[in-house]
Amino acid sequence: MASEACDVCERSVRIAGGIGDLWNFAFESTQGMTLELADGSEFFLCFECMESLPEDTEPTAGDVADLRERTEPVDEDRNSFWHWG
Ligand SMILES: [Zn+2]
Repeated sequence: MASEACDVCERSVRIAGGIGDLWNFAFESTQGMTLELADGSEFFLCFECMESLPEDTEPTAGDVADLRERTEPVDEDRNSFWHWG
């Protein structure tokens, strides 16, 4: 398994890593994916943020930027403070 930061909420998202993952297992354990937009730009989004994108139109880089503005970044530093402190 690997992880990648969501381009909107900045949380680190588990993604299926490696060719060895079985199909269904990889799907269940993956929490985000790279979205390729009509204008050719690419963003890595968790499924939660992906669901917040407009559904009736093809999302654009502007939509992703808007969503990012409206989304509080997940503060992972504070989480690890509580966890380790
Ligand atoms: Zn996200």
